[in-house]
Amino acid sequence: MTQRLVLASNNAGKLKEFAQLLAPIGFELHPQGEFDVPEAEEPFGTFVENALAKARHAARLTGLPALADDSGVCVNALGGAPGVYSARYAGEPKSDARNNDKLIADLAAHADKSAYYYCVLVYVRHADDPQPVIADGVWRGEIVDTARGEGGFGYDPYFLLADLGKTAAELASGEKNAISHRGQALRALVGKLR
Ligand code: IMP
Repeated sequence: MTQRLVLASNNAGKLKEFAQLLAPIGFELHPQGEFDVPEAEEPFGTFVENALAKARHAARLTGLPALADDSGVCVNALGGAPGVYSARYAGEPKSDARNNDKLIADLAAHADKSAYYYCVLVYVRHADDPQPVIADGVWRGEIVDTARGEGGFGYDPYFLLADLGKTAAELASGEKNAISHRGQALRALVGKLR
């Protein structure tokens, strides 16, 4: 039997990527926009609290099980910043270009350029589920000060995978999904839900 599941996001790329891995285990994924669910607040200082809030919000407004993610880039020399504030690191309105400029400027005086992407996924069976299913993924790299590549989004043109000699923006989407923080978290979640 197929179980309908609401995704607490309207990002078409995420929907496609998540739906592909969830269909074989019986989930039919619907973006929350289909149900006119407005974006939830993300007021917390941890990824998992934000993802849980988004999942509960979508489940509450639709009556369906819900899946939410929260992610960001964490730079070691900056004490983990931008972290949960990655989307709005350079303030409002959200801008990848300004976020990247700020990150490069903030990191200029530091020799340690190591960083990692982090993603957490939270699945709730219903809005008040006392046992959310949680999975996460970490993808390590380093921040470079010259953009390379046209793919991906956000910080990808500046996120270098030293072993591949490419930035995340130079990977094909399938290649990125196979190794990224989000891909890892999704496969871990599927393992738990199976
Ligand atoms: P969200 O969790 O999808 O809202 O992502 C939060 C922010 O983290 C994004 O707006 C990006 O700035 C950054 N981010 C998360 N995942 C990635 C990624 O795979 N590539 C580049 N930036 C990312």
